[in-house]
Amino acid sequence: MKIEMHLHTSRYSPCAAATPEEMMRALIAAGYEAVFITEHEFVWPEAEIRNLQELFPQIRIFPGVELMLAENSAEHMLVLGTTDVQYVRLQFAPDRVLEKARKEGRLTVLAHPFRWPGGAELLGRDQLPDAIEYLTNNHSTEMAELARSAAKQYGLNLVNAGDVHTVEMIGRYWIESHKPLANADDIRNVIVNGQYRLRIKGR
Ligand SMILES: [Zn+2]
Ligand SMILES: [Zn+2]
Repeated sequence: MKIEMHLHTSRYSPCAAATPEEMMRALIAAGYEAVFITEHEFVWPEAEIRNLQELFPQIRIFPGVELMLAENSAEHMLVLGTTDVQYVRLQFAPDRVLEKARKEGRLTVLAHPFRWPGGAELLGRDQLPDAIEYLTNNHSTEMAELARSAAKQYGLNLVNAGDVHTVEMIGRYWIESHKPLANADDIRNVIVNGQYRLRIKGR
């Protein structure tokens, strides 16, 4: 299953340049079968996810969120599969976010850890996320290599994701799961157990 794990829309992320409808159309055209919507500090209400899903039955639409872990911090973390606003309230307490996510079976991913200095500080703490981003629209080749070494050092899984803010960012970096996701929570098992492939455009 072709999956986008990191996507913003202009509905709730002011920095994104396309509406949810434009994003879904572009994902479907690019052959994606599932997407996690991960706005900055905002979880989509369940009813809105359901409405969008009804408009686009060709793709599975799952919720998530991207949290900045301290004020003006370079550390960003994705929590996938949740519509729980509590995660946003806990954003400056990364240990509690990680603990809650683990208890609830939600996948946590450190986003673009080497995009800015300080983005990988979380990796020095006791509690670690499940995975870190490797190839994304927001990592250069050098940054991706740093992510690969960090993943090895800390025993974490690497994922490719678009960190999509425009339709042009779709279809470059993604993961392909061996089995389809039946529910949003399945993503955690897929990643933790390595049941996926890293994919990039043209390969
Ligand atoms: Zn980010
Ligand atoms: Zn993002």
